[in-house]
Amino acid sequence: AFRGLWIDASGDDTKAKANAYQMAKFKHRELAREIALLNQERELLQTQKELDQSDRTNNLMIVTMLIGSTFFLSLFVIYSHRQKMRYRKLALTDRLTGVYNRGAGQDFAENEFVQVSVRQAEFSVVVFDLDLFKNINDSYGHGTGDWTLKHVVSAVKPLIRDSDIFTRMGGEEFALFLPYSNETVALGIAERCKEAIAAIDTKYSGHAFNISASFGVAGNTVEDLSLDPLLKRADIALYASKHSGRNRVTLYTAELESEALTDEANNPLVFS
Ligand code: GH3
Ligand code: MG
Ligand code: MG
Repeated sequence: AFRGLWIDASGDDTKAKANAYQMAKFKHRELAREIALLNQERELLQTQKELDQSDRTNNLMIVTMLIGSTFFLSLFVIYSHRQKMRYRKLALTDRLTGVYNRGAGQDFAENEFVQVSVRQAEFSVVVFDLDLFKNINDSYGHGTGDWTLKHVVSAVKPLIRDSDIFTRMGGEEFALFLPYSNETVALGIAERCKEAIAAIDTKYSGHAFNISASFGVAGNTVEDLSLDPLLKRADIALYASKHSGRNRVTLYTAELESEALTDEANNPLVFS
């Protein structure tokens, strides 16, 4: 019986061992599966991380590209705007002196004239022409003539307002269109310009000579429907300045008109 029990006991033991073995095997498989799962999860996380990383790199690249292209686009826009302004300026201004050329100056002045007229305000024109300028060219060369033109413009510029329209009408003839200025103001400006031109120190040109200019001044009237008659009257006054000895300012009066007509009939070549 004792043996039987032992056998039994040993029989139980074997069973338990088999059970334990089965359990261990099961546990091991379970663990292996868990490890495999964890490994899979880790790989997934790794892939996820790599994906995130490349996402970030892509985003960074896109942002860099966006900033870069915005930067270059802005540069391009600024550059082309500058270029446009440069061409516009070139088209509107006189190359030598930098003031408006005849076409641009008269256009702007005409616009201003219309606005001034609508407000029933005053508008004056000062025209001036350098005296015996041909002599300067002939005596000291074209370069000195150009130097003179530039310095005349520099002398006049500080004497007018930003809203005044300084125009080179051609050769050595200039016009100042003065919106919202009456004849008295225009006369004052013309006098100051005359003094400033006469005071130009020519020794810096390499020669010593005198510069002077003759001026004509006219203000608008209610009959003026455009700039043209005003400019014509200023020209008549300028013509009178030339005739009465140059280096002076003349305000337009109706009497000048008949004088100019008789003058021209008597001596049409007086300017040449
Ligand atoms: P007046 O007092 O009667 O006006 O005499 P003037 O000699 O000034 O008049 P005229 O019209 O006979 O001469 C103008 C001269 O201006 C002739 C022309 O060669 C010169 N001139 C015109 N444009 C320029 C320029 O851009 N540069 C130079 N150097 N000379 C110019
Ligand atoms: Mg002249
Ligand atoms: Mg002239």
